[in-house]
Amino acid sequence: AEKLLEIRKLTAGFLTENGVVKATDRISLSIGKGQTVCLVGESGSGKSVTSLAIMRLIDYAGGMIMEGNITFRGQDLTTKKQEEMRHIRGNQVAMIFQDPMSALNPVFTVGEQIAESLRLHQNKNADEAWSMAVDLLKLVGIPAPEIRAKQYPHELSGGMCQRVVIAIALACNPEMLIADEPTTALDVTVQAQILDLLRKLQAELGMSILLITHDMGVAAEMADRVAVMYAGAIVEEGPVEDIFNQPSHPYTVGLLQSIPGFEGERGGELYTIQGTIPPIGQLPSGCRFHPRCPHATEVCRQKEPPEFMIGADHRASCWLYEDKPVHIGDDHSSR
Ligand code: SF4
Ligand code: MG
Repeated sequence: AEKLLEIRKLTAGFLTENGVVKATDRISLSIGKGQTVCLVGESGSGKSVTSLAIMRLIDYAGGMIMEGNITFRGQDLTTKKQEEMRHIRGNQVAMIFQDPMSALNPVFTVGEQIAESLRLHQNKNADEAWSMAVDLLKLVGIPAPEIRAKQYPHELSGGMCQRVVIAIALACNPEMLIADEPTTALDVTVQAQILDLLRKLQAELGMSILLITHDMGVAAEMADRVAVMYAGAIVEEGPVEDIFNQPSHPYTVGLLQSIPGFEGERGGELYTIQGTIPPIGQLPSGCRFHPRCPHATEVCRQKEPPEFMIGADHRASCWLYEDKPVHIGDDHSSR
């Protein structure tokens, strides 16, 4: 697919008492038009920081972009002024988060909140905005939208509120939606309904989606491509079929083995990856995964693995693939 967003060697971090800590470390990722890319990993791996960095919201979170480029529709977002970023955030890229209640204003009806967005971003007058708001509520699958539009967030369930948040996101007619754990706070049936809704909207509207999730099952259902993030780095990336059929990085394999019902599951017992993710700023030497890796050898403890090509369009940063003939990316091993 034609590229809509291209992230190249992006390092973003925070200034702390102990100096600068990197929350993402030279990550590269691209999203094609109409594609869904899932960024998966445990919490604390840098997924949310990545999305904040793309939208330059990291500037407000006390962080900064230290290196790399983010190209969106041919323009580099890393050098944009916040004023220009506000325009991009309001009109071209929308974001939704885990907790719909914190995205909604409790003192306005949901219809008013959607209509407000339409007035701001699509210059609609009050009547047009209201009737489009009702249409959007219908589009996101809310029954009796005329009645619901006049209700306040607390009168709606969590799942309904997330549908409203999605409607507000759609009101800016975005080319890309960044969804950070959009279903994590919802119960399982509602979660499936929201994922169905996102799939349906993508098919109808053709937008690109960057979906951030800790859940490999969600990635399996939603993704065209999957990027696995660990301790600030993308350790494996490729088409969804490759990631599930030929998971190559030991961390990806561990994540898959911890999904209930996955064939790699051992003797009916859920596998958990031993150990915990290192805190940012406290990376181990060599491969960042080595303290938890069942395959670690001496080289892993000493040298950071570069990216190796596993397939035509599938890469992993792991020394196990050193003898594969094809090898791309910079060699970081001398650092
Ligand atoms: Fe494990 Fe070594 Fe591969 Fe790192 S480079 S994931 S420690 S085998
Ligand atoms: Mg997060």
